[in-house]
Amino acid sequence: MGKKLVLLSTAIVTVAVLFLTGFYINSNINNIFNVPIGKMETVSLKAGAADKISGKEGGTAIKTKDNVGGGAPQKQVSESTGDIKKETTWEVKTTRIDQEAKKIVDNVLDYLVLVNKKNCLPAGFVPPDLVKPQIKFSFEEDLPKKLMRKEAAAAVENLFQQAGEEGIDIAGVSAYRSYERQQEIFNYKARQMGEEEANKISAHPGESEHQTGLAIDVSCSRVGYNLSEAFGETIEGRWLVENAPKHGFIIRYPRGKEDITGYNYEPWHIRYVGIEAAGEIASRNITLEQFLANEQ
Ligand SMILES: [Zn+2]
Repeated sequence: MGKKLVLLSTAIVTVAVLFLTGFYINSNINNIFNVPIGKMETVSLKAGAADKISGKEGGTAIKTKDNVGGGAPQKQVSESTGDIKKETTWEVKTTRIDQEAKKIVDNVLDYLVLVNKKNCLPAGFVPPDLVKPQIKFSFEEDLPKKLMRKEAAAAVENLFQQAGEEGIDIAGVSAYRSYERQQEIFNYKARQMGEEEANKISAHPGESEHQTGLAIDVSCSRVGYNLSEAFGETIEGRWLVENAPKHGFIIRYPRGKEDITGYNYEPWHIRYVGIEAAGEIASRNITLEQFLANEQ
């Protein structure tokens, strides 16, 4: 009788331990996939990355491998959290609806760097030479969104100086944006309108040109400094089309090129590419994607 009770207790304890261990392993795997993307620079995955999680807890070795697709890993990082060591490929996404392969760009400091829905920046990339251009902004606070890379900042100052001389009243609305900030913005829009719609007007983190420090959104008081298509119809918006290329900027998302850029028309978003490339892109009425394809 006593022996049976011991056996029964042992069985119950064993089942409980197995159950809890299973739950533990499971929740750790889930943590990897559900990690808030602000932390993704350390523990994110992407379609194409093979990821390993290994760890030790209560004498139980955990090892699992998840292959989300094809493609080569880009960069390895490791992270230790207590006893749990995670080794993962430094990539950007795990929960995308479209799991198509994406490239992590490596020419991050190139003024011609291509950043779009297929070519994205590494999560941890912060331009090393961000400065605040001396131009009019639509807001007073000293925020990171006033920053641009040094050369682009000098170019935008020249652009705004010419505007001032010609009586064109424009203001910067948003320039540099960190990976984490882009994540917040995208999540906010996805909650409002759903991920698919949000993707047409807002970039996933890593896919925004604002992270390069080479882009700035510009508007004017006539449209309340809004970033709307109406800006493109204003005197200021038309002036920008004509004059931005003289200072090395292009209207990055033109009307009629949505299939190539992946974005709706954005008359307010200008991107620094240098005077030579900007002149050619504007005069040939092409996009940066087309310009770079021709270069190869
Ligand atoms: Zn923009």
